[in-house]
Amino acid sequence: MRIVISEFMDDAAVADLAAQFDVRYDKSLVDERDALCNALRDADALIVRNRTQVDRALLAVAPNLRVVGRLGVGLDNIDSAACAERGIDVIPATGANAQAVAEYVIASAMLLLRTAYHATADVAAGHWPRAALSNGRELAGTTLGLIGFGGIGRLTGRLGRALGMRAIGSDPQLPPSASVWRDEDTRRCTLDEVIGDADVISLHVPLTLQTRNLIDASRIATMKQGAILVNTSRGRVVDEAALATALREGHLAGAALDVFAQEPLPAGSPLAGCPNLLLTPHIAGVTRESNRRVSSLVAQKVAAALGSD
Ligand code: NAD
Repeated sequence: MRIVISEFMDDAAVADLAAQFDVRYDKSLVDERDALCNALRDADALIVRNRTQVDRALLAVAPNLRVVGRLGVGLDNIDSAACAERGIDVIPATGANAQAVAEYVIASAMLLLRTAYHATADVAAGHWPRAALSNGRELAGTTLGLIGFGGIGRLTGRLGRALGMRAIGSDPQLPPSASVWRDEDTRRCTLDEVIGDADVISLHVPLTLQTRNLIDASRIATMKQGAILVNTSRGRVVDEAALATALREGHLAGAALDVFAQEPLPAGSPLAGCPNLLLTPHIAGVTRESNRRVSSLVAQKVAAALGSD
């Protein structure tokens, strides 16, 4: 049985799979659609991250495909309906990168609230902007607003609460009676309440028709003066131009973005040069540890799915 891996995967997990199956591991396949199509003609399984577009056209060239492993959790690059019609199992790495994302959110929030960490070049050059940078805020005592209260939202809340934050959240798919709100000591709110009450807003929703542009200009306008926004979910959940305006005008005190409507972020984006803005290249969920966990979980589950047929 043949497995094609089109994006980076931990070497030990690839070796485990190669000991049991015929594996073609080629990280360049994600950028070479024709080569990927050729490789898939006799493939039983495909393993991807978030960049390989697993659409109907790709599935059509892979008549034997039975399993798609996803080295991560967002499924917006996979046509899940088309996979279901074909009886293809889609296997995400649920939970395996949550710690990495949650730590990214809390670390970003601390850096952004304190505002002092951009001073390295100034201090090294002999300047001493002490007065200007003595106005930062502490994380403890702030309200953390979690939009999307699944695996990553919950863990982020837990880390924030451990540091003295108060957690509130909105997730329409979790009714007020769901015990998780009480178990996680998190007040269930409407989306508008979270937006209006939180000092730090962190997005943990999947990209769907309902969440596309969820954080638009009108919602940004109702955020607290001086609030911080952290987006590790998907770029299209936030209106980037509206966010840039709110940062430049000082309505928001800072933002951290790990994901963008278009990745890589095109040159000339309105985000370039905004004050107190952290930009990272979609790595919130990727650490040495999470890469090992994600890769070994997906390798085990893909092997089990192929073996069990
Ligand atoms: P999850 O499925 O456990 O949780 C998502 C939650 O969002 C669910 O509880 C769902 O009910 C809720 N939700 C759906 N629509 C909503 C809406 N309109 N308003 C509020 N809540 C809504 O997923 P997760 O593991 O917590 O991951 C969340 C997202 O984070 C993923 O879909 C992925 O896009 C993103 N992600 C990014 C990285 C990264 O490296 N930047 C890594 C992992 C995950």
